[in-house]
Amino acid sequence: MGFVLPAELATRLRAARSIGVITGAGISAESGIPTYRGKGGIYDDPEQGDRTIEALSAPTLRTDPDRAWQAIAKIAGAASGAQPNAAHHALVEIERKVERFVLLTQNVDGFHAAAGTRNLIDIHGDTFKLLCMKCGRRGDLSREPDIEPCIQTIVATGKAPRCECGGTIRPDVVFFGEMLPEAKVQRLHDEFYHRVPDVVISVGTSNMFPYIVQPVLIAAQQGRLTVEINPEETEISGYVAYHLKAKAGEALTAIAAAL
Ligand code: NAD
Ligand code: ZN
Repeated sequence: MGFVLPAELATRLRAARSIGVITGAGISAESGIPTYRGKGGIYDDPEQGDRTIEALSAPTLRTDPDRAWQAIAKIAGAASGAQPNAAHHALVEIERKVERFVLLTQNVDGFHAAAGTRNLIDIHGDTFKLLCMKCGRRGDLSREPDIEPCIQTIVATGKAPRCECGGTIRPDVVFFGEMLPEAKVQRLHDEFYHRVPDVVISVGTSNMFPYIVQPVLIAAQQGRLTVEINPEETEISGYVAYHLKAKAGEALTAIAAAL
């Protein structure tokens, strides 16, 4: 039993000198963090999905930070009691085995960093990193009691955390309708557009954002090896050389072992 990699894919992976990986919420599903879309996602009910997007938007953060934080607490609360899974660990092993490696993630759960990935672009930020909207003070949701908040308190009270200065604290993540951080976009361009990796692997994403889809399409266009890992079809499934309809944990473990 277990997942077996197509033999030809294994051979082509072994010849690769550089690998770029793109991950979405699906890679953390096996850690027990709900995805947004897909089976069992928190957007399964489309109306609930629209409400979540509205809650996680820049205007809501300004006008009703409690509501924004109640939505954030769903991911942060689930992640604070959970661990990186086999898929996160397999990516660390892949980074060790290949000459050049880069990981672009949309996730805000901090699992890639916790597992030990080094060359990481967390394009949407990290939900455990905090920022005071008034004085700019930075903190950590789980580790700095002096900046006050702890995720359990937020879940229990449904209240946005406040800084000593009286300002509202936000997580250092990109909300719907906000700009991506420029330095990270620059790194994404450098790693995926200027030096297109030999292999680009997209894992557990519904591919809703152009900057997540483009690196895969460019790699395919340039004749690089492209792989998608997702039990369901997405907008890139027709463009990749291999669509592995498997779970992230089993497929990435097999890829790490094949290198
Ligand atoms: P998404 O929820 O839109 O899509 C998840 C995808 O993962 C689906 O296509 C689904 O078929 C697939 N999937 C489910 N289980 C899987 C598994 N075991 N292995 C492989 N694939 C699996 O997620 P998205 O594309 O990342 O985009 C949503 C946005 O939501 C992102 O901006 C992200 O920041 C945010 N988000 C983050 C987290 C997190 O940090 N863990 C969780 C939910 C949402
Ligand atoms: Zn402050």
